[in-house]
Formats: sequence, structure tokens, C-alpha cells
Amino acid sequence: MAVRADPGRSRPTAVVLRRAQILDVASGELSAPRTIVARDGVVAEISDSTRTVADAVEIDVEGQTVLPGLIDAHAHVTQASGDFNEILSWSPQYHAARTSWVMHEMLLRGFTLVRDMGGADTGLSRAVDERLVTGPRLKAGGPIFAPTGGHVLTKVCDGEVELRRALRAEFRDGADHAKLTLSGGVVSKMRLEALGFSDAEVLAAVDEARLAHRYIAAHVYTAEAVSRALRLGVRTIEHGNLLDDECTALFLERDAFYVPTLVTYWAIISGAAGHGLAASKRAAVEDIFERGLESLAKASAAGVRIGYGTDLHGEGLRFQLEEFRLRTRVQEPLDVLRSATLVGAEIVGEVGRAGIVAEGAYADLVVVEGDPLADIGILADGRSLRLILADGDPVRPG
Ligand SMILES: [Zn+2]
Repeated sequence: MAVRADPGRSRPTAVVLRRAQILDVASGELSAPRTIVARDGVVAEISDSTRTVADAVEIDVEGQTVLPGLIDAHAHVTQASGDFNEILSWSPQYHAARTSWVMHEMLLRGFTLVRDMGGADTGLSRAVDERLVTGPRLKAGGPIFAPTGGHVLTKVCDGEVELRRALRAEFRDGADHAKLTLSGGVVSKMRLEALGFSDAEVLAAVDEARLAHRYIAAHVYTAEAVSRALRLGVRTIEHGNLLDDECTALFLERDAFYVPTLVTYWAIISGAAGHGLAASKRAAVEDIFERGLESLAKASAAGVRIGYGTDLHGEGLRFQLEEFRLRTRVQEPLDVLRSATLVGAEIVGEVGRAGIVAEGAYADLVVVEGDPLADIGILADGRSLRLILADGDPVRPG
């Protein structure tokens, strides 16, 4: 845990949650009412104790369900607008202010840890750690890397030397991961089925990440692009909505993670994203969404480790929890909840600290009214969120 800087917000010395019924997301079981003591941002004690804790903020959560803080493994905190040209017109300082607002709202939705997949640098992670910004813990990777002719909003690198140089600089500056675009996209000049970067370039990037004890994530859609990325050593597959059986076998063989992002297509199709789309593009997005659900079902049945991702921007950001509802079309609520907690923690290298309610873990908790396993809508519509404990600090949504 980072050392706290003096200027940041202070947090209570201790917070005690009384009569907390904890949902164990590994087993799916709900505990008897317990006492949770959070101190210095960590869960210090889970017990049946009723004694008073000195200097603590006491909160009674009787009848509510306590979950681990949620993890969004594919978000873009710097994309406060869906109009990329508008973002480019912002001053860096205004952009930072909008970003901190996006992060604040993500926290109010129950996301206590977010993996940024393009845009955020580790300055934002530091600002959260120093409590200058009220937001989720942030895993940042800097820019998205693409070859000439690649995806939008990216840092262009051609050749192994350029790529290694750029990655070294990012890892030196503290990046947690690096994302390469290894195929076109939905909003891309590059055709969806086109492959980005040569095998040698991808291998060089994977090697640089290995040397830095970091990993490579890849933006990919088609089965061909997914299989290729996995064979070349990519650890997390972003989107990957057109999987075949070979892909699912490779995920298991390579110990890789799958992070589909269905809600971003849903937001476009339903008009919730707040921007229009040409009819030809719209049909393509509908197809990606439907086949994305089929791919999710296939991966889930095969036992692939699946992270919770959203990939929203601008007006669509408010649907960050809607991915819960979409996934339960093909998955059990508990499996989706595991994606947003246990698997997310594995992806970002925080097993035992994030995505779990346990002594020694981060005091990152979500308290909801009702049972999300019986009705996933309790999480998806956000209205049942009662309390978020973020780094030991109680935050009330709404
Ligand atoms: Zn993305």
C-alpha cells in the first residue's frame, strides 16, 4: 500500500460494520451476522465480537448483504465524453478534472478497483493512493499501442525497436500492463478482421512485459486474432466476441483471461450511449453483441477465467453495472459476481487483497439491500447500493 501524502483526505481511524451478512463469492454462501472492523484501509477483523472499538465509525448493516468491492477490468476513466475529438480539444487540466469526476462516479457504483485499458497513466493511480481523488484503486497502462493504420486514439509504433522503446518507457513509469491492438474494431478505420502488428512485434512486446514483470493485454475480435494473440503470449484478451472452440482451448492451455465488454455494444444499440451510428455500423454492432453473448456462454461452459469489463465512455458510463444483467442472460449470477471480484483480482495481481471480504484484504466493500444471487437487478440497476467502503472510507451513493 502506498504511503499517504499529507494533503489528501483523511479517513476514519476505524470503521465497524455491525450485523454484516457477508456473501462469500467463492462458495455463494451468506454468513451469519458478523462484525467487520476496518482500520487503516484494511479489514483488520471479522468476528462475532460486540465490544466497542475506540474512535470507530459504527454502521449497522442489519438485513443487508456485504459483498467485496467490485472490479471493472476494462474501463477508460479518461474518456468522459463519447466524442473523441471533443476530448482532444480539452486542456490537460480540464481533462484531469473530468477524469476525476468519472472516477468518483465509478466508486459510487461500487467499483473499488478499475483496470484502465487505455488513456490513464499512473499519475491517476498515485492521486487515488494519496487520497487526492475519490475514486477506485486504479491499474493504469498508459496509451494503447497500435501499428500504423491501427485503431483510434492510440500510440503508433512500428517495428520491434520502436515498440520495445515505448514499452520500456511505460513500464519504467510504473505501468501495470500494456495493451496492443491486434485487430480492427467496431469504431476503427482498420477492418475488424485485419490483424495488427507482426508476430515478431507481438513477441517483442510480450518479452518486454515479461522482463518488467508485467503483461500484455490485446484488443481483438475474431477467433483468428484471439488464437494468434494467445499463442504469442498475450495474457488478457479484451472484447474477443467471436470465439471458436480452438480459442477456448487455448485460454485454458495458456492460463489466459477473457474480458468481454458487452454493455458497450448494448449502449450503442439501445441509444443509451448518446451518439448515433450509421445503419451499416449498427448491424455490425448488433452482430458483435449477439455473437458476444454466444462466446461468453461458450467460454463460461469451458471453464475459461472471465473478467468483468465494460469499455464505456461518455454518457454510456452510467451503465457500468448493466453488464451484470446482460451476462446473466447466459451465466449464473454468482459466476458474474466472481468475474467482478475474484477473477478481477487475479487479472490485476491482487489475489487475497481485492475482490474478497477477508482479514488482511483491502477494506473495499459494497453493501446492498437484498440478495443479488436471487435478483441480479439489485446490482445492475444500482438503486439497492447502500454503502461503499473504499480503502476504509465509508461513501454513501445517491
Ligand atoms: Zn476499451
